[in-house]
Amino acid sequence: MFMRYFVRHMSAMAGPKPVVLTGPSGAGKSTLLKKLMKEFDNVFGFSVSHTTRNPRPGEANGRDYHYVTREAMQSGIDSGDFIEHAEFSGNMYGTSKAAVQAVQARNLICILDIDMQGVRSIKKTDLNPIYISIQPPSMEVLEERLRERKTESEENLLKRLNAAHVDMKFSQEPGLFDAVIVNDNLEDAYEQLKSSLIEEINNVKKVTMSS
Ligand code: ADP
Ligand code: 5GP
Repeated sequence: MFMRYFVRHMSAMAGPKPVVLTGPSGAGKSTLLKKLMKEFDNVFGFSVSHTTRNPRPGEANGRDYHYVTREAMQSGIDSGDFIEHAEFSGNMYGTSKAAVQAVQARNLICILDIDMQGVRSIKKTDLNPIYISIQPPSMEVLEERLRERKTESEENLLKRLNAAHVDMKFSQEPGLFDAVIVNDNLEDAYEQLKSSLIEEINNVKKVTMSS
C-alpha cells in the first residue's frame, strides 16, 4: 500500500515524460510540432536549443533557438551546461540543461527536436523520453520539400540530403524508437503522432484539472 502510494507520488513529482522528435531535415518535424503545440496549449513546452546557424526569416531568438557564436557555445559545453550537443551540416546544435528544466518546471511535456547524434547521446542519460522518428515517404519527396522550403543554400541542401540517407537507415534500427511515423499525408502523420502521445497528454490534462 505504502509502496504503491510512494511510487505514484514519486512519478507525479518527476513530471511528464519528455518527447524526442527526430528525423531528416525536411521530414516535417517543425510542422507537426507546431500543430501539436497549437492544439494542446499548455500541455507541451519546446526545449529551445542553442545553435550557431543563422536565424531563418520568421524565426525568433529565444523561441525557435538561442542563436550563439561558436565560441559562446563551446564555452557553455566546456562548463557542462549542455545535456547533448552535435555538429550538423556545418553548424553546432545543443540542448542545454536549462532549456529542459524551464519546461519541466512548468510541468509540461518537454519536446526536444534533435538529430540522430543527439538521440544517441540522450539514450545515455536518465532523461527517459518517448522517442519518435519522423520520416519522409522517399528521398525524392524529401528533396522536393527541402527545395520548396527555400531555406538552404545548394551546398547546405546537399549536406542535409546526405545526412538524411544515414538518418533513414538509423530509423530502422530495431528498438531505437517508440514510433516511426512516415509523413506522407500531413493529417495522417499528425493523427499517428497524437496517438503515440495520447497517454502522456491525458496524464498532463488530469494533473492540470485536479490542481
Ligand atoms: P523539419 O522541421 O523536419 O526540417 P519542416 O517541418 O520544416 O521539416 O518541413 C519541411 C517542408 O515540408 C516545409 O516547407 C513544410 O511546409 C513541408 N511539409 C511538411 N509536411 C508536409 C506534408 N505532409 N506534405 C507536404 N509538405 C509538407
Ligand atoms: P535546422 O537547422 O533545420 O533547424 O535543424 C537541423 C537539424 O538539427 C535537425 O535535424 C534538428 O532536429 C537538429 N537539432 C536542432 N536542435 C538540436 C539540438 O539541440 N541538438 C541536436 N543534436 N540536434 C538538434
